[in-house]
Amino acid sequence: MIGSASPRTITILGATGSIGASTLDLIRRARDDWRVVALTAHCNAAELARLAREFSAEVAIIADEARLPDLRAALAGTGIHTAGGAQALIEAASRAVDITVAAIVGCAGLAPTMAAIECGKTVALANKEALVSAGSVMTAAVALHGAKLLPVDSEHNAIFQCLNGKCAAADLSHVASITLTASGGPFRDWSVQQLAAATPAQAVRHPNWDMGAKISVDSATMMNKGLELIEAFHLFPVGLEKLRIIIHPQSVVHSMVEFCDGSTLAQLGPPDMRVPIASALAWPARMQTPCAPLDLAAVGELTFRSADENRFPATRLAREACGAGGAMPAVLNAANEVAVAAFLAGRIGFTRIAALTESVLARHAPPAPTTLAEVIAVDHEARAMAAEMLEHA
Ligand code: NAD
Ligand code: MG
Repeated sequence: MIGSASPRTITILGATGSIGASTLDLIRRARDDWRVVALTAHCNAAELARLAREFSAEVAIIADEARLPDLRAALAGTGIHTAGGAQALIEAASRAVDITVAAIVGCAGLAPTMAAIECGKTVALANKEALVSAGSVMTAAVALHGAKLLPVDSEHNAIFQCLNGKCAAADLSHVASITLTASGGPFRDWSVQQLAAATPAQAVRHPNWDMGAKISVDSATMMNKGLELIEAFHLFPVGLEKLRIIIHPQSVVHSMVEFCDGSTLAQLGPPDMRVPIASALAWPARMQTPCAPLDLAAVGELTFRSADENRFPATRLAREACGAGGAMPAVLNAANEVAVAAFLAGRIGFTRIAALTESVLARHAPPAPTTLAEVIAVDHEARAMAAEMLEHA
């Protein structure tokens, strides 16, 4: 596919998740083109072992050390190296490979993603929370270590393709605006009263995309688009005022770039994450995917409308946090992660997710972090504050 004689090496951080599964599905179909070095998971030792065997991984890493005995037992006699814990994850991410797929969910993926960046690697980035939290700490590390970020998030991958991969500030002077499309999520047309009664089961049932639970809830609150706004702010430095959001229920146009001469370029495709993942894996070449071709006659209509920040305040919170800069995006992300977990656990109602996040943002404004350790400290403090506010609600 990519035309190289020897297989390319790949590590997948978060191999057992939705993005991990889509990535491995592509590798399964082009087996001879890839050699899998490391696969990691949080706590599902059985699934990790199954994948490590199938793909003959060199190493399998489980973040939850308590599950390491299960992983070892499941991989006994295979010769696959096993390890557990946060440090093992960082070591695995530091192994020399051609491409690392950062597909852990949440700020938990930050340290291993930074480890890959600090090795000067090419990182296919799905883990948006890591970039949102670390912001310029991550982009500075990318520049310092000569690493490359290839966006996997469908919107950012679309923008990256429209820009032909030229994303440095100096390359973007002709960009008039960048518009992120949003499906609007499962509650797009719900009233505030309906939203207040929305259940976790309803929130994770996305109309267009099949994704992990956390990002599905983020799509329902629209915080996903808020996080993506901050992600775009760092990946495509055109300035916050040139970043827009538009509701596009069909999820066919994945985002758009408007240039100063009035031309707008967009990337279209079926709502299947294997398309942007394949783009990142093969960049700047192309590779086959099994995705159904886009049938625009069958889609019929592509519609667009403005986002409603009264019903979905999360995008406003994200825009404000991005504008404030410094630690605020990390605080926003941490509070949202705690709130989403509480909602999924049945502890708070749907509309409390954004409300709790806003309360934490209003009370907590730490100084701007300049190192990875400081970003992680901001994340931990904001989580603690969100958890405390949940207790006293
Ligand atoms: P998921 O919940 O399906 O999978 C998450 C993966 O991370 C799993 O392998 C899990 O074992 C691992 N993980 C979770 N917590 C961990 C921890 N504390 N330490 C180490 N590993 C941990 O999530 P997903 O839907 O695949 O999303 C992954 C990332 O990609 C997220 O940042 C999400 O926003 C982004 N993303 C996902 C999609 C999608 O379609 N699923 C689209 C765009 C972006
Ligand atoms: Mg996206």
